[in-house]
Amino acid sequence: MLIHGQFLREDQLDSFKALGVIPSLFPMHTFYWGDWHLDHTVGPQAGMNISPTGWALKRGMLFSSHHDAPVAFPDSMRVLDATVTRRARGSGRIVGPEQRVDVITALKAMTIWPAYHHFEEKTKGSLERGKLADFAILSKDPTKVEPATIADIKVTETVKEGKTIFKLEPGARTAGAAPDITPLLVAFGGHRGALADACAHDAMFRMTAVMAGGPTGR
Ligand SMILES: [Zn+2]
Repeated sequence: MLIHGQFLREDQLDSFKALGVIPSLFPMHTFYWGDWHLDHTVGPQAGMNISPTGWALKRGMLFSSHHDAPVAFPDSMRVLDATVTRRARGSGRIVGPEQRVDVITALKAMTIWPAYHHFEEKTKGSLERGKLADFAILSKDPTKVEPATIADIKVTETVKEGKTIFKLEPGARTAGAAPDITPLLVAFGGHRGALADACAHDAMFRMTAVMAGGPTGR
C-alpha cells in the first residue's frame, strides 16, 4: 500500500503493479491546488499528472481516493468531482485530462477498493447481504448528472450500521442544488432488511452490482 503518491512517475505505476502495491491517491489536489502546482511548484509536466488515477486505471490496478482532512474538507462529493473532472477551482483548467476516470471507477475508489485496502471488504465497501448497513443516500445519481455538477450533489442521509446518523433538513438545501426526491444509495456498506425501502431505485441496484461484481468489482 502506498499513501498519497502525489508526484508519481508513470514507470513507478508499473513497479507497483508488479509488486502488488495499491496506491491511495489524493485527486482533490487538482481542485484546490491544481493551478498552484501547474504555475508555481512543479510545472505542467508533473503538475498535470498529480495523483495519477488514469495511469492506475489503464493498468487495471486498484486504487483509492483520500482527502487528507484536515488539509482539505472531508467532502465526499468534492472528492468524487475531483477524481472525475480534475477541474482547478481558480482557472477551471483540467489538470491532467488523461488522469480523469469515469464516475463508477471514482465511486469504487471511495468504497469497495479502500475496504479492500483495509482488509474490510467482507463487511464494508458494497451493499451486500451480510455486510454492515453503512451507506449514504444522495440527492442525485452521480452517474447521470453532468460531471461538472457532481460537487453540487447533497448527501441527504447517512446510515451507520442500520441507524440514521445524519439527515439533511429540507430547508438546508442550497439554492444551487434542486431537490431530487429519487434517493440514490451509494454503497460503502450493505445489509439485509433495513435497506429495503431505499433499495427501490434501480440505479442503486446497478451500482451495487457493479461494485460487488467480479475482478473489477474490487
Ligand atoms: Zn494524502
